[in-house]
Amino acid sequence: MSKSAVPDDADLPREETVDPAASVPPQVFRLAVEQAALAISITDAHAHILYANPTFERVTGYSQAEVIGHNESILSYRVTPKIIYESLWAQLKRQRPWNGLLVNRRRDGSRYLADLTITPVVDEAGETTHYLGMHRDVTEVHRLERQVQNHKALIESVVDAAQVAIVLLSEDERVLLDNQEYKKLLADLGQEPAAILLATLRAHSGLELERARASRRSLSNHEVLIEQPNLTPRWFSCSVSWFEEQDMSADAFYEPAKRNYLLLTIQDISELKQQQEAIRINGLRALLAEQERIQSLRETLAGAVYQLEGPLNMLAAAVKLLDRRKEAGTDEPLATALDEAVRHGRETLDTLRASIPDGAGELVQPVDLNHDGALTDEDNNGWRYHQALPYDTRLLPRLIYKPMVELYSMVD
Ligand code: FAD
Repeated sequence: MSKSAVPDDADLPREETVDPAASVPPQVFRLAVEQAALAISITDAHAHILYANPTFERVTGYSQAEVIGHNESILSYRVTPKIIYESLWAQLKRQRPWNGLLVNRRRDGSRYLADLTITPVVDEAGETTHYLGMHRDVTEVHRLERQVQNHKALIESVVDAAQVAIVLLSEDERVLLDNQEYKKLLADLGQEPAAILLATLRAHSGLELERARASRRSLSNHEVLIEQPNLTPRWFSCSVSWFEEQDMSADAFYEPAKRNYLLLTIQDISELKQQQEAIRINGLRALLAEQERIQSLRETLAGAVYQLEGPLNMLAAAVKLLDRRKEAGTDEPLATALDEAVRHGRETLDTLRASIPDGAGELVQPVDLNHDGALTDEDNNGWRYHQALPYDTRLLPRLIYKPMVELYSMVD
């Protein structure tokens, strides 16, 4: 027969017609009660204690002599609601056993929670002659239960207050627990968000997801785009983690079994993505504007150089002519001035040429346009160009015309 199979009638022991208690010597019943690990008391029909075993003495702190003849109410802490006693007695009056929890007070005044079972003892005439009370101290069990409940309530309120959607799924991905944000998302999408997001994750990173599941490793911040007809596309950052729980069923008490769960946290990052895109586009615009500005500066300077070269060449030719006259001893001051002007002009030209920025501009460093750090490195498409001019460009006309003015003043 397998462990879970229900036994056939043939497997069950045959009903004996003789009284089985008759085979147990009467003193054994007494010794069994005496030595039982439960607090046992026997009362008359009015709940006056006639007998209490040693465990009763240990649990309550009262000796037999102190309780005999007293009502069991000697143990009552008087905080147990009256209705509990009423239902206790109503049940006993129907000659049915009662089981429940009562707050008891020990002899030393300390309190404990008693898990009490009272059984009416009915004689052959059908009268209740006595009551058998059995109880144990379950204060610690209760404390642990409350602790678990408190932890659960705390976790649930924290999870509910979280600004991200959180959902706990069973191994076959049924929703077991979710928070308020997840419920909102469900209402927005009109479909189970976990199913859509996990399907999209599998489509793009199926292998990675599978490996992470196999090694019980978490997957963090995977960005998933959900596009649905008639709805604005939405971006979500998803994190997946797995955990195991010990099976709590009785079957698994000696043969521990585990249950696997998947925890999915979902953060709507659509707004962040829009901001990133706006920053990227602004960065590109700034880059283009900078390139255009440098290009127009190049053209202006190159034009100025070209225009300045003509008169300078003519001046150089004049200098040569005057040199010849100088050798003959005439026009020496004018020749010297012209010479000086040409030299100055050439120096200016050299300065101008050196000042023309490179055609492509000089790429010096990536600029993190994302000041709050939300962009990844790949998103930093904005680059800043080097300012190639070594001087203030407003000085340019003075640089070009100064030698010319000097020359004219000499000629005049
Ligand atoms: P009670 O005066 O007892 O009255 C409470 C309510 O119960 C009232 O409605 C009253 O009418 C009804 N009632 C009381 N006695 C009877 C009766 N004999 N027949 C019908 N109705 C009745 N109580 C504890 O607090 N802790 C224990 O560990 C405990 N163990 C018990 C073990 C046994 C075997 C039995 C029979 C009773 C036990 N009781 C225990 C119950 C106890 O006898 C009291 O009923 C209870 O403590 C309330 O006491 P009380 O003086 O506050 O109120």
